[in-house]
Amino acid sequence: MKFLKYSMIVCLLLPCYADAQTALVAGGAGFLGSHLCKKLLERGYDVIALDNLYTGNRRNIEDLFANPQFSFIEHDIIDPLDLKVDFIFNLACPASPPHYQKDPLFTTKTSVIGSMNLLELARRNNARILQASTSEVYGDPEMHPQAEEYRGSVNPIGIRACYDEGKRCAESLFFDYHRFYGVDIKVIRIFNTYGPHMDPYDGRVISNFIRQALQGEPITIYGDGTQTRSFCYVDDLVNGIIAMMFDSPTDFTGPVNLGNPGEFNLLELAQKVIVLTGSSSELVFKPLPSDDPKKRCPNISLAKQMFNWEPRISLDEGLKLTIDYFKELGY
Ligand code: UDP
Repeated sequence: MKFLKYSMIVCLLLPCYADAQTALVAGGAGFLGSHLCKKLLERGYDVIALDNLYTGNRRNIEDLFANPQFSFIEHDIIDPLDLKVDFIFNLACPASPPHYQKDPLFTTKTSVIGSMNLLELARRNNARILQASTSEVYGDPEMHPQAEEYRGSVNPIGIRACYDEGKRCAESLFFDYHRFYGVDIKVIRIFNTYGPHMDPYDGRVISNFIRQALQGEPITIYGDGTQTRSFCYVDDLVNGIIAMMFDSPTDFTGPVNLGNPGEFNLLELAQKVIVLTGSSSELVFKPLPSDDPKKRCPNISLAKQMFNWEPRISLDEGLKLTIDYFKELGY
């Protein structure tokens, strides 16, 4: 029995190997979570993927079901849960602007109530817990590149606030559980990440550009395209998550930035996608959504110093791999 509803497992023992430790990945059927589950299985952990399938997709974890050390539980972290685990990764939250803005109250609840439920689980199990926070905690930044000590410039009443403030509150909860209950926490701040398993319709810039280029549709640039982002390939990011969880000093909580410091504006990105796909798509300019950050680039010195991590895959290389994945999906 590998695919379970949470209500079905209250009295059930999940498959586990005698010596293996158990890692719980909340958001395990999502873009990043599915890659993380795969990597944890390769490292010998029993892995439980937990997902409400709001933006996650069974297709992302299909190839993991053959592994007897893998289980999937359909569950929403807004509802409390009880499991026996050693490590918890909280990646559960819709993350692309159109997805997290679709039901903003649900997004806030996911980050705030969901994090509290997982922190309680960590406390009961004496488990180490990692929070996937985000570069969005820096808002539209005045410090460039962004280092961890920068406290950010977030509009608390704007359309991105449900995500930004939800993630900021989650960070605050993690540190209060750490100070108050001694929970063993790790907090990472993830910058824009891309690669296979991205939802082609999640509305993000890389998935939109590749899909549009492959289908010969106009490539939609919001604003004048001079805003910048720094794009990290998913394999690099997952290596960083694993290194922070298992290889960083025990007393190092973060927050720590994980991202690729190579910075590109969107016109440069569109040009790369057009060249790599051989597309004849034209660019169309659309209004810039409100509170859209003008620039974003991580300072990753802390990750280098604490666990010797830095990304290795260039944007061109990563885009090629992502384009191949979109082609496999039939685009
Ligand atoms: N963007 C764009 N065209 C699209 C989708 C997004 O120009 O089809 C822009 C968006 O306005 C933002 C940047 O690309 O400036 C990155 O957007 P994304 O939604 O990928 O993530 P964000 O970093 O804003 O959370």
